[in-house]
Amino acid sequence: MIVLKTVEELKKMRAAGRISQRALRLAGAAVEPGVTTLELDSIVRRYIEEQGATPSFLGYGGFPASACISVNEVVVHGIPSENCVLKQGDIVSIDVGAIFEGFHGDNAWTFPCGDISQEAQRLLDTTRESLFEGIKAAKAGNHIGDIGHAVQQYAELRSYSVVRDFTGHGVGAKLHEAPNVPNYGTPGRGPRLMPGMAIAIEPMINIGTHKVRVLRDKWTTVTADGKLSAHFEHTLAITPDGPVILTDAD
Ligand code: MG
Repeated sequence: MIVLKTVEELKKMRAAGRISQRALRLAGAAVEPGVTTLELDSIVRRYIEEQGATPSFLGYGGFPASACISVNEVVVHGIPSENCVLKQGDIVSIDVGAIFEGFHGDNAWTFPCGDISQEAQRLLDTTRESLFEGIKAAKAGNHIGDIGHAVQQYAELRSYSVVRDFTGHGVGAKLHEAPNVPNYGTPGRGPRLMPGMAIAIEPMINIGTHKVRVLRDKWTTVTADGKLSAHFEHTLAITPDGPVILTDAD
C-alpha cells in the first residue's frame, strides 16, 4: 500500500532528509587516499546522532553499520571496515539514511578518491545525470514507469547498463515502503504518481554487465564482471508543483 504524506509529515521528512544530506556531505569531504571506510562510517554516525537523529541503516535487517560504503565494483551494501583503505583512483559510493521525528531520509552519492580515470569520471557523471533525469520525470500524473524509463534511456544511450536486482522505493515512517521504483521501465506503466508520495530514486549504473552477485557476508553486492559501478540517490516528494528533493541541505 502506498502511504501518502501530509504537508506536515513532508516537513518532518525534509528535516530528516537535511540531516541525511549533511552527513553524506561530511563523509564525502573526508574521502581521500589512506582513509578507511570505517572512519567514514564514524563521521556519518557521529553527525546524525549529534542532531538527535538515528542512522536508518544501523541494525536494519542486521546491517552492522550506519552507512553502506561501496568501493569500485561494489554496487551497493558495502560494509564499512577498518580493512578497507581507500586509494587514489577509487570511486566510493556512500549511502546514508537518518530517521528524525519518526520519518526517514535516504540518499547516496559516489565520490572520487583523488584523481580518477576518465572512464570512472564519465560513469559518475552519467549516473548522477540519470538520477536527475529520473527526478524530472517524477511529476504528479506520471507513472513509476516514466521514472525508470528516463533513467534507463539516459544510461543505456551512453552504453552503460542498469542494475535490475535492486530498485528505489517509497520512503516515510519506514525506510522502505511501497512502491518499488525500478531504474528501468515503460512509460505510462506502474503506479500513478500522486501528490503526497515520497520516493527514493537511486540509479545503480554499471560499465559492464547489469548482473550482480551478493558475497558470502550476505550484504556486499558486486558486479558479476568486476567492472565499476556507481550509485546516486535522493529522496523526493511528489507535489502539485513538481518533485521536491527532500535530501537537500540548503
Ligand atoms: Mg534507498
